Amino acid sequence: MNNNIDRSWIDKWEVPFVISGPCSAENEQQVLETAKRLKESCHIQIFRAGIWKPRTKPNNFEGVGEKGLKWLQEVKRKFGIMVATEVANAKHVEQCIGNDIDVLWIGARSTASPFTIQEIAEALEGSNPIVLVKNPIHPDLELWIGALERLLKKGIRKLGVIHRGFFIYKHSKYRNQPNWNILLELRKIISNIPIICDPSHICGNRKGIMDITNKAFHFPCDGIMIESHCNPDKAWSDAQQQITPENLYDILKRLNIRSKDKSKINLDSLRILIDELDENIIFLLAKRMKISKELGTIKKNLDIAIFQPERWKYIIKRYISIGKNLGLSEKLLENIFEILHKESVEIQQNKVSE
Ligand code: PEP
Ligand code: MN
Repeated sequence: MNNNIDRSWIDKWEVPFVISGPCSAENEQQVLETAKRLKESCHIQIFRAGIWKPRTKPNNFEGVGEKGLKWLQEVKRKFGIMVATEVANAKHVEQCIGNDIDVLWIGARSTASPFTIQEIAEALEGSNPIVLVKNPIHPDLELWIGALERLLKKGIRKLGVIHRGFFIYKHSKYRNQPNWNILLELRKIISNIPIICDPSHICGNRKGIMDITNKAFHFPCDGIMIESHCNPDKAWSDAQQQITPENLYDILKRLNIRSKDKSKINLDSLRILIDELDENIIFLLAKRMKISKELGTIKKNLDIAIFQPERWKYIIKRYISIGKNLGLSEKLLENIFEILHKESVEIQQNKVSE
């Protein structure tokens, strides 16, 4: 894609490029204390805090609104760090521009709505903040790129994207499943787009953050955004995934930052893709075996034989044909399905003899 994205805002910093701060601004004291401790321990480049919070359900804390912008200005003045908040409509954009906010991010729910993006792009025309576009809730690469195009058309050039993972229904150890593959595709289409990874919203808990941060830098992403709070357990939103500034410092210290060697970078990113696929295979296997177990119970109740040769012949013929069309060898497919089928029969037999 031909574009004139301006990367200078991120390229001027040494890695790691770090955005951090609370999920939500709650009061001036919490904002300033978090910023002070971040400044002292981690040398972050951008301080984040949500002022308008898109919540899944009503009756939750929806952000302090415009008054929080003054607290962000205070962070900028006192600690000399750039400040960022989320915008979801034209009014938010105007208020941020009027209050000198350096970085605006567009949340996952907004990226999924072309009307919202268009409204934001129009409100941004003629101003010059850094704009970071989070991936849409679902893995629709075109929609994500479409959002960037709408912004570029209005002359917004200091752009970047944030990978915060994708919602999948049930069965994931993540709050939002990471998808490194889609990032590779995005890089193929827009090679110069700065990519920030958001381990907090991917994990939804504290313990996975180190692993995803490490992956992000080996991928390689250009930076990370991690939620931090001066008292995470008491946070008014996303408490379970926020960490203290001192914990962030530990994570950054333990990071094994990417090497500059190009073939090592490619090796690392391919390994990350393989790990992700293997993890998905394990989740699918677990799902499949759970259904086998249920099948065992039904067969027992109906008094049907567990091993049914006709069904087995049908399965193996069908999957060899599908797999061969995808370029897999017949031998691999036979081996895999024999093992799977054998395990499935054993599970059902155990069920029957229970
Ligand atoms: C956030 O960054 O606090 C947020 C609401 O993120 P997302 O849009 O990724 O859910
Ligand atoms: Mn959050």
